[in-house]
Amino acid sequence: MSGDPVPVGTAPRWGVSSLDWCSHAVDEDADHPYGVYVARCGQRLFMGTSLYDEAPGWMCLLCLRWAGQPRPEREGGGAE
Ligand SMILES: [Zn+2]
Repeated sequence: MSGDPVPVGTAPRWGVSSLDWCSHAVDEDADHPYGVYVARCGQRLFMGTSLYDEAPGWMCLLCLRWAGQPRPEREGGGAE
């Protein structure tokens, strides 16, 4: 109803790309082309890539943004 394209609470999983060795955010439930995961930043990871709940290494900054952890809007009732 809020019009947010990314549902809050759907945490991505993280896979390390063999191209840049950064951890990219992957939505497992999303539609992916055959054989690859498409990370939120557009980077493609081989389907055999291990996915983790927490990024095992340096996170891709673009994915980090898209992962939406720090949302620009306050979620109401912020202490600060
Ligand atoms: Zn990425």
